[in-house]
Amino acid sequence: MIVSDFVENINENIPMGFYDILPKECDEQGCNSPMVMTELLTELQCSNPFCPSKVSYRIHQLLEDIGVTYITESQVHEFVIDHKITNVFEIFLYDFSQEPVFSTGVSDILSKALSSTLKQNKLFTNYEYVKVAHLPNMSLMVKPLFKDCSDLNVFYEKLESKGLAYLQLLLKEDSNTITVDMVKVYETLLTYKNELLEGLNYVNIL
Ligand SMILES: [Zn+2]
Repeated sequence: MIVSDFVENINENIPMGFYDILPKECDEQGCNSPMVMTELLTELQCSNPFCPSKVSYRIHQLLEDIGVTYITESQVHEFVIDHKITNVFEIFLYDFSQEPVFSTGVSDILSKALSSTLKQNKLFTNYEYVKVAHLPNMSLMVKPLFKDCSDLNVFYEKLESKGLAYLQLLLKEDSNTITVDMVKVYETLLTYKNELLEGLNYVNIL
């Protein structure tokens, strides 16, 4: 539920002060998307799947996957804001050894190390590629869905023509079972389709 809708429908059981402190828009530079909240008021987050804070978190995870442990999430965040990064795989487009890409705190030596690690680790199978994308709600599903995938474009053609049935098929689920997790995975895959397909241009696929 969008926070501003929630605030307009005041519930007497909730103290007024609570409404005043709720952020209605994300305060990330260049985002300002509406904030959303779960029904039970347990979680508040930005509605934009490509919010700079989410992209930064995912790039930081990707870097850890390929063995980069010396760049902090806040340094990645600065890079994302400065270069208006919306696709996590854009990290592979930068030559960190040539230009001062990080505005603070990353030495020349580390920038060069980062560049060579990125160059040496841009070859993925489709499964590895989707795994390092760190899409939300996907962690346990990436392997069963992508371990035999030989072409992501074909995967998406089938997903879009067959819908949830295609996920059921890959997960070897009973055709009568549609779980909440499957619906979430389906939504996630469609949300990140453009990012994944565009990112293929920035890496090499086995
Ligand atoms: Zn945001």
